[in-house]
Amino acid sequence: MNVDPYQGKSVVVVGYGITGKAVTEFLVLNGASVKVFYDGKINEMPNPFGFSIAPVDSGFLQQVELADLVVLSPGVPLSHPVFRSSVPKISELELAFRHSSTPMIAVTGTNGKTTVTTLVTEMLTRAGLRAKAVGNIGTSIISMIGEELDFFVVEASSFQLATIESFCPKIAVWTNFTPDHLDWHQSIDHYKLSKARIFENQGRGDVAVVNGADPVIASISLPKEVTSVSFGLGNYGFGLSEDSSFLIARGTEFVKVSELPRTLPHDLENALASSAAAFSAGVGLDEIADVLRGFEGLPHRVELVGVLEGVSYYNDSKATTPASVIAAVGGFESVVLIAGGKNKGLDLSPLVELIPRLKSVIAIGDAAGEVEEVFSEHVTFPVLRAYSMTDAVMKAREQASAGDAVLLSPGCTSFDWYSSYVERGDDFRTIVQAMTSRDVNK
Ligand code: ADP
Repeated sequence: MNVDPYQGKSVVVVGYGITGKAVTEFLVLNGASVKVFYDGKINEMPNPFGFSIAPVDSGFLQQVELADLVVLSPGVPLSHPVFRSSVPKISELELAFRHSSTPMIAVTGTNGKTTVTTLVTEMLTRAGLRAKAVGNIGTSIISMIGEELDFFVVEASSFQLATIESFCPKIAVWTNFTPDHLDWHQSIDHYKLSKARIFENQGRGDVAVVNGADPVIASISLPKEVTSVSFGLGNYGFGLSEDSSFLIARGTEFVKVSELPRTLPHDLENALASSAAAFSAGVGLDEIADVLRGFEGLPHRVELVGVLEGVSYYNDSKATTPASVIAAVGGFESVVLIAGGKNKGLDLSPLVELIPRLKSVIAIGDAAGEVEEVFSEHVTFPVLRAYSMTDAVMKAREQASAGDAVLLSPGCTSFDWYSSYVERGDDFRTIVQAMTSRDVNK
């Protein structure tokens, strides 16, 4: 990189969370004059670099107009005043791409991003490559610029992709598409087009890994000369053998499904998407199979947290869309479902398709009424309301019998009762484990 490429440039950074802080540090160290703006409250913080920091207030837009560039933190909503300014606006993803020579594998999709990002990173590492998982998964990309790596594996949200210009991953993966984040995007089309931008700048030698069974993704036209690799639960480049007992890569059976710890349909889709991406990066099928055989899944994603009286309790707190609830419930025959929370503007009615697998529904949080409404007209089984997570677990226990699964798969965000899906899932796990150890020790 040039010495101080931002010397003499004025840059506005919007947002001062993990990403905003890392972006600010990068820009200041590269010579920019930085003004940070934040929404809401912010605690007193050390400011070793002497940049200016202020809340977004009435003078904000005038300040922005004086800048050469705006860098947006993920999640800055489209309704934010910054979008009224004419100054070029880019995401941290774009900024990092401009300054990194490390090849990137990017993963987007409505569900499965973190899982696929993790798996691909493990597969590359197993093959002796230096790979780091970055982006939405937790570590900002910009903070890793300059590390000696063979690949960045980037979990790319639609927010980050919406404001790219030149960002071009060597390998781009789009896992699936269902409505989400309609509180942020203007429309479902905007959400779709933001995700599709992951392929926009790809060309010869680049690979697009696409879900062949997803009609929305299959309808996207890829840039000419990009190599397209399909995956899915059927006859795809990375798919299933005819009897569904093997994962196959280009006709070669490379791992037995029965050897895998995670075999729900969406687990297999994630395994196939990850295998396609890692294989495209040069990882061998044996190494890929090894990683899949050892992958128990991530916390808060259909995570088994306890078994009591023959009933298995699963924490799927990360499920914040109806589509992910449908994916999770689809793995079980008889489920007591705990659902609800803070709805992010999504239509919950697709959950009715789960009725044949449900034994009872426990509705929680701000969206409890909406959850009740979805089921109330259609079912004969109990739909109960719970007023705390403990209440929900107790009511679920009363409804379940041996062989059933109790599944916390909320289909909504956690921000009514908790500060994050992690806190919600941890609370559920603690309650279940306390109940399990109490009753087992009795
Ligand atoms: P993301 O990072 O996109 O939110 P995660 O891997 O963290 O995805 O999984 C989030 C939720 O979506 C979990 O509840 C999980 O069970 C569900 N899920 C994971 N992969 C898929 C998939 N391929 N299709 C549908 N749902 C999925």
